[in-house]
Amino acid sequence: MLDITDLKVELDAEAGIVRAIDGMRLAIERGETFALVGESGCGKSMTALALMRLLPDNGIVAGGDITLGQGRDAVDVLGLSESRMRSVRGGRIGMIFQEPATSLNPVMKVGRQIVEAIEAHTELRGEAARVKAIDWLRRVGIPEPERRIDEYPFRMSGGQKQRVMIAIALAAAPDFLVADEPTTALDVTIQAQILDLLKQLQSEQRMGMLLITHDLAVVAGMAHRVALMYAGQIIEVAPAAEFFAAPRHPYAQALLRALPAGDRRGLPLEAIKGTVPPLWQRFDGCRFAPRCAKAMPHCASTLPELAAIGAAHTVRCLLYAPDAPAAAEAAAAEPVAAVVRPVVDRSAPPLLDVQGLRVRFPIRSGLLQRTKRHFDAVDGVSFQVRPGETLALVGESGCGKTTTGKAIVQLLRGAADIEGRALLDGRNLFELHGPELLAARRQVQIIFQDPFASLNPRMRVFDLLEEGLASLNTELDAGARRERIERLTDQVGLRRDALDRYPHEFSGGQRQRIAIARALAVQPRLIVCDEPTSALDVSVQAQILNLLRDLQRELGVSYLFITHNIGVVEYIADRIAVMRAGRIEEQGDCDDVLSRPQQEYTKTLLAAVPRLVPA
Ligand code: SF4
Repeated sequence: MLDITDLKVELDAEAGIVRAIDGMRLAIERGETFALVGESGCGKSMTALALMRLLPDNGIVAGGDITLGQGRDAVDVLGLSESRMRSVRGGRIGMIFQEPATSLNPVMKVGRQIVEAIEAHTELRGEAARVKAIDWLRRVGIPEPERRIDEYPFRMSGGQKQRVMIAIALAAAPDFLVADEPTTALDVTIQAQILDLLKQLQSEQRMGMLLITHDLAVVAGMAHRVALMYAGQIIEVAPAAEFFAAPRHPYAQALLRALPAGDRRGLPLEAIKGTVPPLWQRFDGCRFAPRCAKAMPHCASTLPELAAIGAAHTVRCLLYAPDAPAAAEAAAAEPVAAVVRPVVDRSAPPLLDVQGLRVRFPIRSGLLQRTKRHFDAVDGVSFQVRPGETLALVGESGCGKTTTGKAIVQLLRGAADIEGRALLDGRNLFELHGPELLAARRQVQIIFQDPFASLNPRMRVFDLLEEGLASLNTELDAGARRERIERLTDQVGLRRDALDRYPHEFSGGQRQRIAIARALAVQPRLIVCDEPTSALDVSVQAQILNLLRDLQRELGVSYLFITHNIGVVEYIADRIAVMRAGRIEEQGDCDDVLSRPQQEYTKTLLAAVPRLVPA
């Protein structure tokens, strides 16, 4: 159905010509789901854009062929005129993007958007196209399609918008579907519904599907075959079951070991050292060599080719070259050293005791912006965190978990009405003022989800770290502050020269280290971690989780860990509280809640999470 040979895509960037895709070769059959996986910047999305001929202005296809269909139906995608390509795009190839909220036209009714796709690519017009659009809304599971067809996108939830996107993508019955991170922006229960829907529609229509994602668990549940990309090249292709049971490329093995899960509790996750090399440079050897734990002397000077190691399994690695010594043993995974997990003293009095927390946001309207109503974001929440303990607060977006965290860190004072108590050492944080409040702020810090947005881009790292110290630890002089900051940089694994640089000079993982150092600078006893790894790649996530775990062991700090990632919860949390619509539905020991959930909602939530089951 789709044949890509020797595809090369180049981008004209400031640093030089970036070879974003360097010699890609793959073939996808009718009815097959082919997953392209890899970390950010490896070339996955660029492949989709090249296929749709939607490369950015500074990008060109520098070589190769893309053929869609077979025999008389075959088209040379790269050779088509732009006007013919327009009928292929949306006609023979459908596409679903990551973010449904920005992919739909906000000022056009959803029905009109589906009808537009039907009229552009089929014979149907007018009322017949509208009837077809209603039929599509029904097929993708939108209730009351006759009424909802005349609604604007803003009246729909994220999951419903993605269903509308799917209806638009499939309305012209394409031969082939490109789904680029189709569920990344959605909650797990909605994700499960959308993936089921895609699977069902794909098998009904026998489409080929290119599924692009960074979520390996989603791939395991959806794909027939998997291709792993690294630095612009495919480095392993295998049937999905074989890939997950026995990945052969050292990068694939390391990636799977980097995934947090319950069976790795107490063990360090495999953190792949270094970063992806810049793609403007010429490579004389294996692109993964500087990071590869199994690199051999000739890896830096020999270019590995994609070579078959099984009926449908190919790998780009010199370990599998015919003359490589004892390839199988060399490629076997080494056992990871066991580390004893600190046991939390359950009899110790709680460090933080939250009782009946309610957070109400005023809803204002009218010329004078008077408060008309209130919205209860958190509605009577109680929990405790013990010294050295990690309590995970989980739930879907909008359930109130971040609001709970912000209220405890005192970030909602003045913005919301807060009721209830948050006792830290027996003193209610919500009643503190002046110097007492300042002292309490030192004890409770926060790390945010997005390390790109949470660091002031105009401040050097040293100043970022010193800012909190100067205002909350006034007893320290400049020399003592510098000493503490230098020690912190070592603790979070940054080089000392990082202190003189600005945030934009760092990668996402390094920025999150800076954010952790900033939180630790004032020696807090509790850190609210608000989705600290969800914006990071798997290997970087592993580094940050290892760091948080080590710091907890060293410093005895407690974490209130807000996340929707159950794998992370299993790995790092001692206890778990499940939130829904501003309330806690269930809380208890992590193992108990995850293995024997009592509430229906917890069961639904856990059932919806895609997982990689150990082979
Ligand atoms: Fe590692 Fe060498 Fe294989 Fe590259 S070719 S992945 S450096 S063993």
